[in-house]
Amino acid sequence: MNPCGRVRDRFIQILLAVILVALTGAAAPGSRETEPARDPKQPVDEAYTEKIHKYTTQPYFTSPLVDYLPASKNVPTPEAVLGDVAGAPGILPYAEDVYKYMRLLEKATPRVKVFSIGKTEEGREMIAVAVSSAENLDNLEENRAGLAKLADPRTINLDDAEADRIVERAVPVYYITGTIHSPETGAPTALMELAYRLAVDDSPYIREIRDGMITLITPVVEVDGRDRMVDIYRWHVAHPKDFYPPLIYWGKYVAHDNNRDAMAVTLKLTENVLNIYVDWKAQVLHDLHESVPYLYDNTAGDGPFNAWVDPILTDEWEMVGWRNVADMTKLGMPGVFTHGTFDTWSPGYLMFIAAMHNGISRLYETFGNGGADTRERTLDADEYSRTWYRQNPPLPKVVWSQRDNNNYEETGLLTSLHYFNENKQLFLKNFYLKAKRSVTKPRAEGPAAYILSASDPRTDSQAELLRILQKQAVEVSRATAAFSVTLPGKKEGKPQKEEKDKNKEAAPATTTREFPAGSYIIRMDQPYSRIADALLDYQYWSPDDPQKTPYDDTGWTLGELFNVQVTRVNDVKVLEAPMEPVKEVRAAGAATGEGSIYAINSSAQPALATLRYKLRDASIEAAEEPFESGGKKFNRGSFLVKKVTRAQLNGAIADLGLQAVAIDAMPLVKTHPVRAARIAYVHTWLSTQTEGWWRIALDVLGVPYDYISTQNISKSGNLNVKYDVILFPPVGAGGASAIVKGLPSTWGNPLPWKKTPETPNLGSNDSTDDMRPGLGWDGVARLQAFVQKGGVLLTATDTSQFAVSIGLVDGVTASNGQKMQIVGSVIGTKVVDAASPIAYGYDETLSAFCNNGPVFSVTNVVGGRRERRPGPETHTRPTGRGTAEDPDFAIGRPGLEVPEEPKAELWEAQPLTDEQMHNNYRVIPPANRPRVVLRYADAKNLLVSGLVEGGDEIAQHPAVVDVPAGQGHVVLFSINPMYRGETRGSYSLVLNAILNFDSLNAGRKLAEK
Ligand SMILES: [Zn+2]
Repeated sequence: MNPCGRVRDRFIQILLAVILVALTGAAAPGSRETEPARDPKQPVDEAYTEKIHKYTTQPYFTSPLVDYLPASKNVPTPEAVLGDVAGAPGILPYAEDVYKYMRLLEKATPRVKVFSIGKTEEGREMIAVAVSSAENLDNLEENRAGLAKLADPRTINLDDAEADRIVERAVPVYYITGTIHSPETGAPTALMELAYRLAVDDSPYIREIRDGMITLITPVVEVDGRDRMVDIYRWHVAHPKDFYPPLIYWGKYVAHDNNRDAMAVTLKLTENVLNIYVDWKAQVLHDLHESVPYLYDNTAGDGPFNAWVDPILTDEWEMVGWRNVADMTKLGMPGVFTHGTFDTWSPGYLMFIAAMHNGISRLYETFGNGGADTRERTLDADEYSRTWYRQNPPLPKVVWSQRDNNNYEETGLLTSLHYFNENKQLFLKNFYLKAKRSVTKPRAEGPAAYILSASDPRTDSQAELLRILQKQAVEVSRATAAFSVTLPGKKEGKPQKEEKDKNKEAAPATTTREFPAGSYIIRMDQPYSRIADALLDYQYWSPDDPQKTPYDDTGWTLGELFNVQVTRVNDVKVLEAPMEPVKEVRAAGAATGEGSIYAINSSAQPALATLRYKLRDASIEAAEEPFESGGKKFNRGSFLVKKVTRAQLNGAIADLGLQAVAIDAMPLVKTHPVRAARIAYVHTWLSTQTEGWWRIALDVLGVPYDYISTQNISKSGNLNVKYDVILFPPVGAGGASAIVKGLPSTWGNPLPWKKTPETPNLGSNDSTDDMRPGLGWDGVARLQAFVQKGGVLLTATDTSQFAVSIGLVDGVTASNGQKMQIVGSVIGTKVVDAASPIAYGYDETLSAFCNNGPVFSVTNVVGGRRERRPGPETHTRPTGRGTAEDPDFAIGRPGLEVPEEPKAELWEAQPLTDEQMHNNYRVIPPANRPRVVLRYADAKNLLVSGLVEGGDEIAQHPAVVDVPAGQGHVVLFSINPMYRGETRGSYSLVLNAILNFDSLNAGRKLAEK
């Protein structure tokens, strides 16, 4: 790392920011910006104001914008619902109380309108509250029509003059979202009070905001999690001396990762906010978080910035971010800063919905106490130190209240709104320009389109990927006839397959490729081309990037992770191909031919698992070898469905994108039954975040399971009576010992997670009287017995390390890389045992999601460790005569031929030597040895998207291993096959293991010794 380079970069950045603030902050000549000060003619709500002062712990933790509350004769203050002021100690409202207040406002003033914007997974309502002048709210539709023209410049023929005319009269929409992260509790009360101020306050500063723009507020984004958090907080207030349980579940599925869903849009909250953002044609999405003292505006984060956003946006980030710091610094509030440590690479954050849809993404981290207690807070040195971007840092030690937090949130938002309004014509014009540049993309930077071919065998995953794009408001078209495009000779973007590297002949400059009718085309001459491009393109994070700590995933290429063919086309002629818009993408399925047996080809479609559970009474066999029937080719693992009527089959596959061919007789290949396995799905009480992505994947596919905790395992009887397969998805916290031990329980009080009158919102997913006990040694024994008696245990990443470290398997080691940096990247893998049912339907290569392993090695000897042997390849011969490759000699006797060492690939076990075989009770019999199904690609092909540094530590090592154990199996994953709704392409590795649970040894070839 070269610090000088960094310092210079930073100096330039500051300079740039200062210039930007100076330029954009300057009002028109002759006019002056309105000062933040209350209207002396408007009476103040004295009692409320007195409490604001009482709950604010230092005079400099407030501002002239929020240190009073204007009085109103007819509009109720938040006290009407809270019983105290916003930010009062001890008070956290449930979402429905927040909504109740917003609806009281709506009744009392024409300046507030409340909209229901959808439901959560658990059926709770989400709302958006519009606050503006009565006139603006009366003209919502007319104004929206104007904004819609700016949002889609095709409607005005990209006419800049017309855009300018619309910009002159349009009222912009600034969308604020609160408490997506449930332990970050301050936003709802701040937003209640903000809505009141915007509706009531007659000071010129606030009036300009109200008259000039529409403030749209979703006070609670994660409603399910909010209500659970309020439960816990109230329980804490009632039992102040006890420890209270950590918020193990936020939403139904995931916790903190609810703010990483803006790519695949699997969660309702993402979908609802996205729909509102797009429908309202909003210019800003400003998401409120709490963690860092006192207000970290990470609107303008550190690099690298996302490569697909318009530079107009990155300039806007700097403008609004630094201006916000300047405004709050002038108001005397310490600890306000921007830039910080957040990089702006991944588009997975909720706020990034705006960045990817031509708006402005913003995010605050304010200082929260994780509840409404007033607490003494002591900061770490790196939190209170003065840095170049934090010239007025927070104080090392303070008493901090929820009211302080609310003061910062509201002041930050009000200054932001005011600055935005002062410069709204600039921002509206930018909104139009970003959309226009999205439309003109094909002939500017390109590409012209992405194509998803009608010849892709994985129609279900293809349809799913297209539906994600449609959720993102991307227009999808379909070719009505075959068409050709010119592609670069060397296939751009896609890493070369390993075999092709061997013959590096000069590739032709271009090639022509024909796509069949029915192929999908994502045109890039549309207003939201940016999000499609960002999701479908490849990512490259250089190991030399000055940013050494990526904030989140570095790669996400969805075509790769979905195992779907996506072709990036620069040839603008593609836009002239005959095509029609597609409203609803359907992967239709149907049966053809005549016969009583239905053959369905396996291309590793997750829909096959859906079908198995839909047709519970049908008999389904899997072919263990490829075959041909009815003129069609079928892969290993293809389904042969019997005991089902054609109508039943057609009904089941109609929407699954599966094609069935009716045949008269079973093909002459070996088959085995595919049963609807009974699944136990295990979670810990340590963390449910990462497993939640597996749960939502199975729920969407309709694969049923019993959701049980490690505590249930330890208390269970014979697990084999109830289950065939136990899934133990990644935990993401604590490691193997924590899985066994749980949370500390030799001191403190029980931590209940259950529904009680005091905590009505807990316990919906699962419940326990005490979260602290873990799997325990009883549980370990039960898991072991389950496997020994024929069950299948499937683990991934850290639970694989757990299975290895507690000795559930023989012949596998799992270690962490030493210098390896694979930070949420898309990684190349290769099938090495295509006959394993786990690999059914897959091609030779597969892209998968990897986050630093673990690194597996397999051995044939218990306690052995796979290591590279010394030899010429590793230049490790002993010191002696000759070159590195030469044999040494001994003086006085002829040289001897050294017996050749048995060779093995890195994913294989080292073959046994005769010496090792002698009386060696540690040697694992061939049938009990680990079977490697999937391995990581060679080092040079490892990186598909994202960051790979030191990849040779994991290259070629096993990625999925099927380990026989007693009568059963433990299937170990180093990749995470089910993640954030982004990895559908690897789902079938898990689903195949489930469906073939009692035939995993199919096709297995054993070593001779
Ligand atoms: Zn947060």
